[in-house]
Amino acid sequence: MDWLKNDVALITGANSGIGRAVLRRFIAEGASGVGVLIRNGAQADAMREEFGDRIAITVGDVRSPDANEEAVRATTKAFGKLDTMVGNAGVWDHFASLRKFDGATAKATFEEVFAVNVLGYLLAAHASAPALRETNGSMIFTLSNASFYAGGGGPVYVASKHACVGLIRQLAYELAPDVRVNGVAPGGTVTPLKGPESLGKADRLLSDIPGFSDAVAEAVPLGFIAQPEDHTGHYVLLASRENSRATTAEIIQSDGGWEVRGRPARRA
Ligand code: NAP
Repeated sequence: MDWLKNDVALITGANSGIGRAVLRRFIAEGASGVGVLIRNGAQADAMREEFGDRIAITVGDVRSPDANEEAVRATTKAFGKLDTMVGNAGVWDHFASLRKFDGATAKATFEEVFAVNVLGYLLAAHASAPALRETNGSMIFTLSNASFYAGGGGPVYVASKHACVGLIRQLAYELAPDVRVNGVAPGGTVTPLKGPESLGKADRLLSDIPGFSDAVAEAVPLGFIAQPEDHTGHYVLLASRENSRATTAEIIQSDGGWEVRGRPARRA
């Protein structure tokens, strides 16, 4: 349990779901401190209660260059360095399909989802790269089964998560040999992932969709829907210099086997 002994990380969207599970696991693996970028200041007290002075909280929106820079500053000020940046904050499109969009809603949804899911990762990479160069550290981004396959959302979400594959590859190329850049691609997971304001779904949670867990479990060969904790070992592996120093531009799929799920039955 000490694969990240004395390491310092920064995680976006660490108040909830997969980000919070990664935060807990990094601390359990010996990280000396973790910066967190969260958008809702009301969550800060509960986070301080659980993690005390092991975390440095920045409240801000991942779409803001200033918020990302402030998060890196706050992390390095509190803990002296940065070894791993985990870009994780995201929104989902609630399966908003092309035929249900009017043009204006399609544009607004695209702009909002790409701004959070893609621009947010780009800005986190931009803000953290100088500090990561100093430590020969790494970036890890949360992707999705929707980074590789259709059906994990509507066209906007799926395109945004595919775009992040390109982001990882290009950043891995540009930042080598100093900084490794990798991803973890979860499949359906029990979290309160929210929708976009542009679709009026900012408070609609993935986990509240009736039958979602059963549908995921039935769709994947391993036959269960993941909990956030099920993915965290992959982040630890990719963050660990000792255990993955030769790995960059890699994306670990943690999705119950989408690659081998066969063709889903078509509804009549
Ligand atoms: P989650 O618990 O809702 O986590 C998403 C996090 O992103 C939350 O902390 C949320 O903050 C934050 N966030 C959203 N928009 C933000 C913004 N503009 N600025 C700052 N923070 C923002 O859901 P999750 O499932 O763990 O999602 C984490 C990642 O996993 C996402 O990238 C998602 O696409 C990916 N993923 C999820 C699944 C799944 O089935 N759950 C599957 C594949 C991939 P609030 O809590 O304040 O809303």
